[in-house]
Amino acid sequence: MATVNLHVPAVAVREIRLNTITGYEGTAADLLERSCNGGASLRERGRGFTQCLGCSTSNAACMTVLVQDGAVISHGPVGCSSCLHEFAFTYRVNAPVRGLSAPTPRHIYSTNLTEDETVFGGSDKLAASIREVYEREHPAVIFIITTCASGIIGDDVEGVANDAEEELGIPVVAIFCEGFRSKVWTSGFDAGYHGIARKLIRPPRPPEERFSITETGERVWDKPFVNVINFWGSDFFGPWLERFGFETRYITPYSTLASLQTASEARASVQICTTLGSYMASALEQGFGVEALRAAPPYGVAATERWLRTFGEMVEKPEVAEEIIAEERAKYLPQIAELRARLEGRTAYVTAGAGHGHAMLQILGELGIEAQGAALFHHDPANDIDSEEADSLVARVRDYGDVPRLSICNKQEFELVNVLARLRPQLLLARHGGMTLWGAKLGIPSLLIGDEQWGMGYQGIVRYGRAISEVLENDEFVVNLARHAINPYSKWWLAQTSSAFLEEGDF
Ligand code: SF4
Repeated sequence: MATVNLHVPAVAVREIRLNTITGYEGTAADLLERSCNGGASLRERGRGFTQCLGCSTSNAACMTVLVQDGAVISHGPVGCSSCLHEFAFTYRVNAPVRGLSAPTPRHIYSTNLTEDETVFGGSDKLAASIREVYEREHPAVIFIITTCASGIIGDDVEGVANDAEEELGIPVVAIFCEGFRSKVWTSGFDAGYHGIARKLIRPPRPPEERFSITETGERVWDKPFVNVINFWGSDFFGPWLERFGFETRYITPYSTLASLQTASEARASVQICTTLGSYMASALEQGFGVEALRAAPPYGVAATERWLRTFGEMVEKPEVAEEIIAEERAKYLPQIAELRARLEGRTAYVTAGAGHGHAMLQILGELGIEAQGAALFHHDPANDIDSEEADSLVARVRDYGDVPRLSICNKQEFELVNVLARLRPQLLLARHGGMTLWGAKLGIPSLLIGDEQWGMGYQGIVRYGRAISEVLENDEFVVNLARHAINPYSKWWLAQTSSAFLEEGDF
């Protein structure tokens, strides 16, 4: 298991820590075989042509902008923060599903480094910006996310953050997530979590001190809780965890400084997606003794039951897991069987980030839909909690069989269009906005599911089954669109194999 070192400012990127790759084409079973022993023998297939790339700074922002009482400063040219406003939108529209009736505006700033400062240094401007943000917003915590420019010129961001912390009396967290550090943009999640774990999370208090005092002087004991490392989707974990006697505390969207500081007092940590959360789960386990659940996220019947049983064993309440399983089986299995009868034998293609892509492939398997292939944005041969049981691709292949055409493709749309035009699946399932349009332009009914918790558990399979049925039955729009759409890719490219720009060799 990779050792988490919370005494150093920057986390090692995924290429180094987990042997993560962004280029591969083959089958899921082959990829898993090559991933044995932490992927020591798995080689990245580089691309001779790349259409686009994401940036770690955005993923680090994703984990910090949504902390309720925080402010975020991007230390770099203003362009590096040009897409961060989308998290303000995300925060506002998802607030009701997390019980926030009056979401406050997000506090997102940039130091706006200019050419002069990239020559003479931007540390003074950063220090002044921190003071200004504090004066304007009085946040409980300030996060600084670094960029290529501040990384290249070597500004002492950690030193400036520590000085500001002393001066202002609030935590100021430097997060090292420059785009050039990693080709795997999910390294930005780890960078954000690393900053939070090393600077904000406190050692657990003894149980007899875990209470707060109300205005009337009453002592209110903290309830037992479980950390759920997640994005911002609906709260489907809450009702399950309540049955086991726990409150749900989400990390990090909609958390507060106070809730993050006491994350070390949780009974356990669970995660919606191993790609997203295993670094934070590992930091909480190694740094603070909070046990991480080692089970693949609950997508599909088999994984859902494994998840519930593993959690039940972990918190010493196996009978509760069996009660939930019995109740939900009785309620949902007949509905799942009905949907399966309707959808069995259909074909689909998936495009998504690694963890959620595996989840979609599991749900397709449960509904009897043939997964012709998938384009997933990266592949981690290992995870930070060192658990094969927590690997959702292993779960997919074990429970529902191989995925015959698996591409590891970091959102290279030219590859996606090539493979869709070749395979012509009956359905495209996507997790990210902007990807479904390629299916629609080719006349393929396309379904975008952005809420990662929507497919969880037995109920999630029913939700997906109904949504897929609806999309397949209402295809007039995409059929018409395909008649009029112009494909920007040339006939030459569509005649090549989708992996034509991947390096050759014995991988
Ligand atoms: S890759 Fe570098 S320059 Fe581009 S947005 Fe990210 S931090 Fe800024």
